[in-house]
Amino acid sequence: MEIAVISGKGGTGKSSVSSAFATLSEIIVLADCDVDAANLYLIFNPENEEEQVYAGGQKAVIDYSLCDNCRVCQDYCRFDAISVVNGKTVISGILCDGCKLCSRICPENAIKMIVENKSRMFSGSFRNGKMVYGRLAPGEENSGKLVNLVREKAKQISLKNGLNTIIIDGPPGIGCPVISSVTGVDKVVIVTEPTISGLNDLKRVLEITSKFSLNTWVIINKFNLNPDMSNRIESYCNNCDIKIAGKLPFEPKVVEAMINCKSITEWAPESHFTKEIISAYKIITNE
Ligand code: SF4
Ligand code: SF4
Repeated sequence: MEIAVISGKGGTGKSSVSSAFATLSEIIVLADCDVDAANLYLIFNPENEEEQVYAGGQKAVIDYSLCDNCRVCQDYCRFDAISVVNGKTVISGILCDGCKLCSRICPENAIKMIVENKSRMFSGSFRNGKMVYGRLAPGEENSGKLVNLVREKAKQISLKNGLNTIIIDGPPGIGCPVISSVTGVDKVVIVTEPTISGLNDLKRVLEITSKFSLNTWVIINKFNLNPDMSNRIESYCNNCDIKIAGKLPFEPKVVEAMINCKSITEWAPESHFTKEIISAYKIITNE
């Protein structure tokens, strides 16, 4: 069973929920698919057993032995990746989108495309099972493709080790890597917070999960900080036939747990937050 935990935006507590789900009693496979900002490895400090290079795309580079500084490439680059610095034409590795146009139009054939290979996928063991995570290098592209690789690897590991549950920590937002994180999963959990933007982001994510007909639950984090808004979110979900799996209270120990490289269920097993998380997990997995 694959359970994906996602959120409409960052900072809602998605990783706190994922890490808590990952450290309940069952031994699981944890897939950190938030490849642009993977962070669960910081909490779980996994023992990496395999490291794979991920070619995230291509970047343009200038061969200065051929370049005559005509600046034609600068005029054509739609991504403003080419500029002139101290009289020399240079390409920004961060801004270059890898579209290859400059390499085609350079009159001196001075621009080559090189494969970016600084991104990595790691797999190994952590204290409650197996873990896979991707780390996309700054400026590298195709995070959705890396998410697919992480999920594929997690499935292989789950089959090989007879582990039935895969917890996916998905990226925030509604972009391509989110879609890659949820397509074909058994269950999706959306973590939201009781604010106007929390509700608006939730609506946008629900459009995705309903488009893919995914079995979806919502968890409202820090619900007691704004009970009115929390009620609005609940009403909205009820009207759309979306199930609320749990309402988590504001809990300062969540941050303490992260600082101490623990999930909240490990750090504060007797807290109300932990009890609610356990209850939410049971609701999600038993249905
Ligand atoms: S188009 Fe080619 S020759 Fe002209 S500045 Fe760009 S790299 Fe150099
Ligand atoms: S490959 Fe495309 S984005 Fe990159 S520098 Fe060339 S024209 Fe600009």
